[in-house]
Order: sequence, then structure tokens, then C-alpha cells
Amino acid sequence: MDWDPARRARLIDGKATAARVRATVARQVASLVDGHGLTPGLAVVLVGDDPASEVYVRNKGRQTREAGMRSFETKLPAGTAQAELLEHVARLNADPDVHGILVQLPLPPQIDELAILDAIRPDKDVDGFHVVNAGLLATRGSGIVPCTALGCLLLLREYVGELGGLNAVVIGRSNIVGKPLAQLLLRENCTVTIAHSRSRELADLCRRADILVAAVGQPRMVKGDWIRPGATVIDVGINRVSVTGPEGPRERLVGDVDFESAVTIAGAITPVPGGVGPMTIACLLQNTLAAARAQHGLDAAHLEE
Ligand code: NAP
Repeated sequence: MDWDPARRARLIDGKATAARVRATVARQVASLVDGHGLTPGLAVVLVGDDPASEVYVRNKGRQTREAGMRSFETKLPAGTAQAELLEHVARLNADPDVHGILVQLPLPPQIDELAILDAIRPDKDVDGFHVVNAGLLATRGSGIVPCTALGCLLLLREYVGELGGLNAVVIGRSNIVGKPLAQLLLRENCTVTIAHSRSRELADLCRRADILVAAVGQPRMVKGDWIRPGATVIDVGINRVSVTGPEGPRERLVGDVDFESAVTIAGAITPVPGGVGPMTIACLLQNTLAAARAQHGLDAAHLEE
């Protein structure tokens, strides 16, 4: 394929797609309230005072209310014991006004994250991290799907269209992004390669990808010459780096992809910020709506379709 080096990739506008998803959720929430007297409720639990987590939790609360849902926010001190957090989760599990539960990660070291995730009722596990939901996705292609992975899939469906038969390379095998996204792409009939820190010849692997996903946590690791010309690049990474400008040093967010070199090679690419990031909360709202409907025996909203 001839490649024009002056050409720049199409930007994948996650902000716009996320706004559309949120608007659809808000419309469906309004009809659920009108038609069934049911207001979906999302409970978010924050333990400790990590500043980044506080920002996420605030944004989740605001966007939940904007979608017409109830937001229940609990902030527990950093020294909270595991038993206390488990009791809190049990109360939320039993609360009929709460349809979705999200415990913000990471948790302080005295708390076993898996014990907490396992304690959330699978049908209220709107993060999709419970082993039952991970198992449903892996074996039946169903269940509640982790929000960031679902957000990536929605962007790919919108910007690529039919995904069947494409070669997808996902760098990263975390339970929250890499693995569920690989399962979703497999469900879409992609040929999926999962790469990680022990993968050999990573650049060569990446060059085979029609769809390249970086979910690594290494600033600007994926270079332009790792990308097949015209490929679609989804950059999940959110990394804070220090840059020095005319006003001195400041912090900047960058992805796992070296955007400047990638943008001249890729066919389409997500910017950071403004790509995958906004999709995560939008998909959380979508999952909460679907959970509320399922708990009341109503058909899933099928927003994902
Ligand atoms: P994680 O749990 O730390 O997993 C990182 C994965 O990358 C691991 O599988 C690791 O391999 C692999 N990896 C690390 N260094 C590598 C290297 N040099 N070459 C190849 N693979 C390498 O991270 P995560 O939670 O999945 O998050 C990944 C990134 O996405 C982070 O920047 C995070 O901030 C961002 N993120 C963004 C959103 C969003 O809303 N946009 C949501 C979640 C995460 P091993 O398994 O071998 O260790």
C-alpha cells in the first residue's frame, strides 16, 4: 500500500461518542422512570484520599446524576478494615435502590482487592470485574463487561465497522482492560493476539495488526514504526509525565502510544486525553442502566448493540 507521509490519521473522538452514549442512557433512564417508576442507582465507594481517585469518583457522581440516575457516594477513611468494607458492600448488595456497585481501585494495602470484588453481587457488579462476569464473558460472550474494554469496542465499531476477520493485537493482559477487550474482539471474530511484558519481538507483532490496542501504562512506548500503515490504534494508556515548556516544568497526560509518530502512519487513532478516557464513565452508566433493568426482569437495553 502506498503511504503518503503528509497524511494524518483520522482522530477517534471519544468525547463525542461518549456524549452520545450518555444521551442515549439518559433517554432510556427517563423512559424507565416514566414507564416503570424505576430510577437506576449507582453506589460508588472510595476508600482513602488518593487525589486521582477522588476526581474519578466526583466525575462519576456528576455524570450519574446528569443521566437521571441516583448516585450514592461513600467515602471511607484510608485505615478502614477489610471487614468494615465488606459490611458496607453487603449493605449495598441488599439495598433495592442500588442497582450498581463500584468500589474504586486501588484499595489501601490492608484490604484484599479480590475479596472485595468477590463480595459484590455479580448482577450489581457494574465494573464487570467479578469472576462470574469475567467467566460469562469468556465462555458465553455475555455478562457485565468491564467499562473501559466496552468503551474501546464501541469506538472500534463506530470507526472501523465490521471487525470480523481483522487482526487485532492487544498489548496488556490486565483483568480490567487487556483480557476483557481481547475477549470482546474474539467475540467480534477478530484474530486476537495478546501481548505483555514477556512478549518477544513486540514491534513485529504490532506491525501485523489491523487493530492495535495499547493498554500498558508505559508513556509513549508504541512508536510509529510499530504500526501497520492504515491500522486503527486505540490508546488506553493514561500516563502523567513532566514536560518543560516556556513557563517551566508542568505535568501532561500522554498515552502508551507515541502520538506524534503514530498519527502519520495509522489510519485512525485515539488521542490522549479525549479518546478512550471519556468512554469509561459513559459505559459505566450504560452498565448501571442495564443492571437495573435486568434486576427488574426487563429486557436488557441492548445499548451495546
Ligand atoms: P496494568 O494492570 O498495569 O497492566 C499493564 C499490562 O501491560 C500488563 O499486562 C503488562 O504485562 C503489560 N506491560 C507492561 N509493560 C510492558 C512492556 N514494556 N511491554 C509489553 N507489555 C507491557 O495496567 P491496566 O490497568 O491494564 O492499565 C493500562 C493503562 O491503561 C494505564 O496507563 C492505565 O492508566 C490506563 N487505563 C485507562 C483507563 C481509561 O479509562 N482510559 C482505564 C483503565 C486503565 P505483564 O502482565 O506481563 O506484567
